[in-house]
Amino acid sequence: MLAETGAQLGSWALPIAGVFGLLIGSFLNVVIARLPVMLERDWEREAHAILETEPAGERERFDLIRPRSRCPQCQRPIRALENVPILSFLFLRGRCPGCGTRISWQYPAVEALTALLFVVTIGYLGLDAAGLLALVFTAVLIAAAGIDARTTLLPDQLTLPLLWLGLLVNIPGTFTDLQSAVIGAAAGYLVLWLIFHGFRLLTGKEGMGFGDFKLLAALGAWLGWQALPVILLLASLVGAVVGIALILLRGRDRNIPIPFGPYLAAAGWLALIWGDELLALYFPQGL
Ligand SMILES: [Zn+2]
Repeated sequence: MLAETGAQLGSWALPIAGVFGLLIGSFLNVVIARLPVMLERDWEREAHAILETEPAGERERFDLIRPRSRCPQCQRPIRALENVPILSFLFLRGRCPGCGTRISWQYPAVEALTALLFVVTIGYLGLDAAGLLALVFTAVLIAAAGIDARTTLLPDQLTLPLLWLGLLVNIPGTFTDLQSAVIGAAAGYLVLWLIFHGFRLLTGKEGMGFGDFKLLAALGAWLGWQALPVILLLASLVGAVVGIALILLRGRDRNIPIPFGPYLAAAGWLALIWGDELLALYFPQGL
């Protein structure tokens, strides 16, 4: 598949997809770091409104744009030249030029991952409407996975727009037919809802969050219900391997919930790119 579409792509398409991925990855870092804080502040405001209490003092504006990025340690503002994806991290040797505090490796990792996934997406799907929409799908999944990994939250602000967008893009049948997309969205939510309540009945524990249901609903909307078994199998497989590795390597308490969102997101992305091949692997007779 890569060869056919790749032949029609200009030689400039993949490098441009990579550079574009680096820039979007840099923005996704901001989303991953700030969206949870913005949500927390919203909840606090709502709680004060419901309880009719006064918040403790006015706070400075905080969104994806303001305040400007600073070193969390010494508050030194990050200059434009220090904000170049990956290169700045290498040039600064991973340390703040003001105080020498280590900069998290997650920043260049998210930038590199976004660039890589953008290149593969355009390489496989081509530089057309489907390819560009797939980049949006990829970017939202990276942000959702990053936030879930860090905070075990999957914000509605990401999963629900992804769900609606998935239904909309499939009106003209971009990735699947509209009927499969609608059934996929409903079935994606329902299957995890059933597993969640079944698991709770059996063990008295809650194995995942409601954000996971909405994320799988979004994946069903984009890829159709036919992709759901593959996504669930892949996500559980990778999740189990990583979970067992964490317990063995780090002695992680097995009762601490491991976020499922990153595995769902990874499986959903793989299903977008290699869905037909994966489906054929599981169901050689076809569905
Ligand atoms: Zn600093």
